[in-house]
Amino acid sequence: MAQTFDHGGGIRSVRVPIPDNPLGHTLVYVVDTDRGPVLVDTGWDDPGSWSTLTEGLAACGTGVGEVHGVVITHHHPDHHGLSGKVREASGAWVSMHAADIAIVRRTRETRPGRWFTYMAAKLTAAGAPEEHVSPLRSPGPRAGLPGLSPAMPDREIVPGELLDLPGRRLRAIWTPGHTPGHVCLHLEEAHPAGLPGHGRLFSGDHLLPEITPHIGLYEDPDDATVTDPLGDYLDSLERVGRLGPAEVLPAHQHAFTDAPGRVRELLDHHQERLAGLRDLLSEPLTAWQLAERMEWNRPWEQIPYGSRTIAVSEAEAHLRRLVKQGHAEAVTGSDPVTYVAV
Ligand SMILES: [Zn+2]
Ligand SMILES: [Zn+2]
Repeated sequence: MAQTFDHGGGIRSVRVPIPDNPLGHTLVYVVDTDRGPVLVDTGWDDPGSWSTLTEGLAACGTGVGEVHGVVITHHHPDHHGLSGKVREASGAWVSMHAADIAIVRRTRETRPGRWFTYMAAKLTAAGAPEEHVSPLRSPGPRAGLPGLSPAMPDREIVPGELLDLPGRRLRAIWTPGHTPGHVCLHLEEAHPAGLPGHGRLFSGDHLLPEITPHIGLYEDPDDATVTDPLGDYLDSLERVGRLGPAEVLPAHQHAFTDAPGRVRELLDHHQERLAGLRDLLSEPLTAWQLAERMEWNRPWEQIPYGSRTIAVSEAEAHLRRLVKQGHAEAVTGSDPVTYVAV
């Protein structure tokens, strides 16, 4: 049975399962418009998830063939996975921010081999031990790469502009950090239950009630720009906090109120974490060594292979931030490069 929820004011959600993932579900929002429903995100590309979505739409009194458009918060496969199928079934447009469209294009065009070579070089430079790097040199077929051929969006979400949703006011808020083109969508309509605040915010993975989203590097084999995703994320958090929405409709877990309070919690959390890492850097450490010493949801020895790769990229994002703030610097001549607090 599809699980749907009526959020009022012509907004419903369908809980679309993410197979074998502790997150459990993606909340796909169904926004009524004068031209038919518009979806915010679509869910993971899996037969079970697809039937949940189609049954859910039926339970909402519509059908997948009626969908007018698809708005994607960011390119990750638990959000964008089913967009192609929805478009095939309905002729709906699919929209995404240009920075994430660029990632979709690259994913479709880059040979997996190139990606593994890039990751192997990157992890070596971060100080990863040989046993972690060597599997990348001889990967199995399609190893660890979900969504090799994501659907190419046909519309661009332009930050600050209203989306083309007949009869509704939905404005795109660019919130880079979790991905370079992540957007939140601000529904600028009074809350249907009269909750105080400014409308409702579809927050994607940017602002979640009980977990902090992964902030890594914007991995791009073709772009050597030194980005600062954690800095981007913290700025984006302040931006949505200032919007002061009456209610947040996130892509995972559950809807919640007091967005400014949740933003403060997350800003404090990252502040504390950065301070803790600066203490760890009283001795020079590589990104890998820093990841080993950071606090995770379980001891480092129990963290599986793929999650270690993600953890290192999170450690690197924190190092970038500390360097940018002038709290840490690379040790000249170190290879792999080590960082130390200043
Ligand atoms: Zn995501
Ligand atoms: Zn997600």
